[in-house]
Amino acid sequence: MLEAMLYQRLDGKAVKCGLCARRCMIQPGKRGVCRVRENCNGTLYTLVYGKAVSYAADPIEKKPLFHFHPGSRAFSIATVGCNFRCNFCDNWVISQEEEILGEDFPPELVVSEAITQKCKSVSYTYTEPTVFFEYAYDTARLARSSGLFNTFVTNGYMTPDAVELIAPYLDAATVDFKGSGDPDFYRELCGVPRVEPIFESLAAMRSKGIHIEITDLIVPWRGDVRAHFKRLARWIVDNLGDETPFHILRFFPSYRYEGGGPSVGSLLEELWTEARAEGLKYVYLGNMPGHARENTCCPSCGEVVIKRVGFEVVFTKLKGDACSYCGKRLNVKV
Ligand code: SF4
Repeated sequence: MLEAMLYQRLDGKAVKCGLCARRCMIQPGKRGVCRVRENCNGTLYTLVYGKAVSYAADPIEKKPLFHFHPGSRAFSIATVGCNFRCNFCDNWVISQEEEILGEDFPPELVVSEAITQKCKSVSYTYTEPTVFFEYAYDTARLARSSGLFNTFVTNGYMTPDAVELIAPYLDAATVDFKGSGDPDFYRELCGVPRVEPIFESLAAMRSKGIHIEITDLIVPWRGDVRAHFKRLARWIVDNLGDETPFHILRFFPSYRYEGGGPSVGSLLEELWTEARAEGLKYVYLGNMPGHARENTCCPSCGEVVIKRVGFEVVFTKLKGDACSYCGKRLNVKV
């Protein structure tokens, strides 16, 4: 166990965690909502430091990050725990696990494995990296000093203080929306009381110059999917810029939520058109391997500059970060 970062001691040995926007008040002997931070006699500890429950060398496209070193590999790690309770979580076996499982995998070993497996980056993913922040932070510092990049795949529910701390070492983040940020959706299906902190942390990441890509999982439910989607697309254009890569993800029933089946392809196509109409230049359809909307097209000449099938890059037609056909510079880190 390691003493946690970002918490306050309160009267009577209670503590208040400041890592994510839940800001849990935790009494002695109790844990926060994420189940992996425990108050032991007035000191907050992380229970998952160096305890990887899952790790693998993945294509970076799997995160998904389509505009950050395309075709490279990301050494990916996770611990148990999450600050959300999504009824449809794909990774619920580890995110909702109540026991502290995992094997000892200290930061030094993560970095040396990443190098051995020819990865360009370390990705903190599968579950929510905010809740294993100290492990991610130490690994990220070491990875950076070894010439590797660092990327988070996150629900975005971290505090501005957490963003501030990790920002010097964080190169890119995929921020995952579900239900297009509809507050009712988050309350009912994810157990999350407010969505505003997600937008605040995105703005903080943007101000720190972190490369951002957004996903939106289109889950069929009773809410007005189109209206919330349009609002999210507009917010991205206005606050993150029209060059922000935006991935519209197909939903498949998982865990406790069927949602009447997978999201319908024609709806996803319609939303793709809507996002483009709002001004976003790089819009993708995800969880639809082989679909033409997996490719990156130059917003100036329309040619395919990165062709993908699923997570595999088939070819790139880039000259540095520019389209090799017309020379337009693209928002791609290479
Ligand atoms: S990281 Fe965990 S303990 Fe801290 S505020 Fe979030 S849910 Fe609560």
